[in-house]
This record gives sequence, C-alpha cells and structure tokens, in this order.
Amino acid sequence: MAGTILVCYDVETASDNTLGFLDGAVPMHEEMDIPCTMSLTGETIEACTAACKAAGQHPLVCSAQHTYSHVLLKTVYMQPGDGKPCSHSADGSDTFLIEAGDLETIEQELSRTQQIFLDTFGHPCRGLTAPWGAYRGLMDRPDLLRILDKVGLKWVRSYARDHRDCQPTPFDVQAFFYADQGLPDLLEIPIQGYQDDFYWERFDDRAHGPDYTDYLSWAVEHVVANDLIWCLNSHDHGTPTAEAFENTKGVWLRDVLTKAKSAGVRFVTCEAFYREQLAARDG
Ligand SMILES: [Zn+2]
Repeated sequence: MAGTILVCYDVETASDNTLGFLDGAVPMHEEMDIPCTMSLTGETIEACTAACKAAGQHPLVCSAQHTYSHVLLKTVYMQPGDGKPCSHSADGSDTFLIEAGDLETIEQELSRTQQIFLDTFGHPCRGLTAPWGAYRGLMDRPDLLRILDKVGLKWVRSYARDHRDCQPTPFDVQAFFYADQGLPDLLEIPIQGYQDDFYWERFDDRAHGPDYTDYLSWAVEHVVANDLIWCLNSHDHGTPTAEAFENTKGVWLRDVLTKAKSAGVRFVTCEAFYREQLAARDG
C-alpha cells in the first residue's frame, strides 16, 4: 500500500523540442527503470516519425494519442479569481477562454491520428490525452465519449482541471469508468496536481514550499500515505536537446521519481493500469 504513479508526457510540439525531449526522457526512464506513457499528436508523429517510432518501441514506453493538431474536446475557461493575470492570457487579463473544436472536427482528428498511429507503430492506439484537459473530464459529455468509443479508444486522460478550470486537480479525483454515461469499459485516468511546472509556477500557493520539487515531495508523501493513483505529467516544451531536458524538466523529474522509488511507490503505464482496473472490476 504505497501508491501508484503513472508518469505521463504530452509530446506535441512537432519540433526540435520533441527530439530533444525524447533524447533526454527515454534514457532517463531506462536508467531509472521506470515505465512511462507518451501521448503524441498526429502532427508530431508525422514531423518526427523515426524518433517517435523508436520511443514507442521502447519496452518501458506506452504510446497514446493527443489528437492530430491539439484540438480541445471541451472549452476551457480559466477563472482563477485571485486577481492575478491568468495563465496564457496575452493581455494580462485575469481570465482566459479557449474554445473546443466542433464534434465533426474532433472525430476527424481522432480518426486520422488512430490511422497514423497504426501505420507508425503497427498496433491500434487505445488511449487519449485530451488537449488542455477539463474540469470533470468528460463526465458531462456522453456525446464525446461515444466518439472516443467509436474510434477504438479504451482510456482517456481528460479530468485535469479544478472547478475554476485551473489547477491543481485534487488528489481525491481518482480513476473511474464512464459507466453512468453508457460507456462502462471506457476508463478515465485523471491528471492530479499540476499538468506541468509552468502551471505550478502560476497557480500554486507555495503552501508546500518555494519550489516545484517541494510540492512534488508533498504529493509523493500524500500518495503513499493514502495509497492513491497519481498521473504525474509533463510536456516536450523548451527541450531542444537532451541537455536542455536534463537542465530543466529532468531536474525535478529525477528528484520526484527518486523520492517516489525510495518510498516504495509502484510505477505502471496507462495501458497496464487500464487492464488492471478492468480485471479488478470483473473479478
Ligand atoms: Zn497538450
């Protein structure tokens, strides 16, 4: 009873940042012997095919999709209510709105990326990370869940925001099947805490200390003490080389993963977790 961490990355920039990120992150996971899940946009697979394919074939890496061009499934309206400029707002506004794609576009993006994934990796894609995430995930959107089911997706990471559409997502939000929405075999795997260091920078109240590693250390203790499931997330942002990865995200990732390992935390991929949840449910 020491908790479970699903280390997850959104690989979405279709640029040198993707290449540097994969060059840094994959060897780090190999060295630490910790599995991870990478959610790739179709555009990123097309732009960096060889690197994505090599990462996806690594035994410690589980691959999933992140739509074709990063279209939102649900509109996000961030309203932190603390009087400070909101994350992503170009004009210093204290709120930020970004609209979802229409249903037709969402279905096209998911289907197109399912095909790109199959052509690249030689097996169907079973998981999706919803760009930007949303409060309550897709609980209130059975129409979207039916589209996910139609294109063959089995699990989704979409509950990644709090009631203000900001972060952190509370740790009491844990994985669940969308049974009440009519999709009993479709699993939600929420992203608790912050989606990445830049969201912590804006939204954290520093109650756990001045650095992101302080927050992450608290999170590990909380997960261990309560035997929780935690999706720890990051992105291929600002990582044009493996060295850049090591000097930025690699610093806090190594720190939190080392602490979690020594605390006895279990690490699994999203696909392995999905199979466990299905087996547990069905006895
Ligand atoms: Zn993303």
